Amino acid sequence: MIGHVLLVEDDRELRATLREALEVEGYRVVASASLADARAVLAHAAPTQGIDLVLLDLGLPDGDGESLLAALRREHSTPVIVISAREGDGSKIRLLDGGADDYLVKPFSIGELLARLRVALRHRGRAVAAAVIRYEHDGLIVDIAAHRVGLDGADVHLTPTEFKLLARLVRNAGQVVTHRQLLADVWGADFTEHTHYLRLYMAQLRAKLEAQPAEPRRLLTEPGVGYRLVEAD
Ligand code: CA
Repeated sequence: MIGHVLLVEDDRELRATLREALEVEGYRVVASASLADARAVLAHAAPTQGIDLVLLDLGLPDGDGESLLAALRREHSTPVIVISAREGDGSKIRLLDGGADDYLVKPFSIGELLARLRVALRHRGRAVAAAVIRYEHDGLIVDIAAHRVGLDGADVHLTPTEFKLLARLVRNAGQVVTHRQLLADVWGADFTEHTHYLRLYMAQLRAKLEAQPAEPRRLLTEPGVGYRLVEAD
């Protein structure tokens, strides 16, 4: 057993498919079809064998999954991945800023869900241990402590702002970081509407770090939401 997942989904067919896929991977799954049932599961989960991750649908028969997200953030540190048919950027951003670890729009592939689930669980483990200070993937090395960036063995010179932006993405490598979070953390809380700064600096970073800046393979765009640095090796 590699993790205990609470699956909150009212679509019976999808619930069965996801349960099966997760169990094949070695997860233990407890499924809920409503908010009330999910709350009962969370209230009764023993601390030592508690829920390791929540997969949360939004449109549920007795309310919106978002209300459970708020409660989870107040009372638990359990990672939450939202699975929803809602595609609106506003809703994605609100959920990510509201504490969801990730967001998958239906229909999604099981492979992608499993990959994001592994990332969310790993990150929760890391957050408890040391902060991420070194990133390595496909020839790119970012050493935050030493303030150095290397690409295919050569040093890359970044401006202080470029480095701050890259370091912020390194700390959440594999996960999407919203425009708002990036602007607040790199430029400051007064700059959360200045998305043009972000576009400019992301273009500069891509010019320095991507083989084909127009078709990025490291610094990925999540349209209307934010950016994701591909997961480290
Ligand atoms: Ca639903």
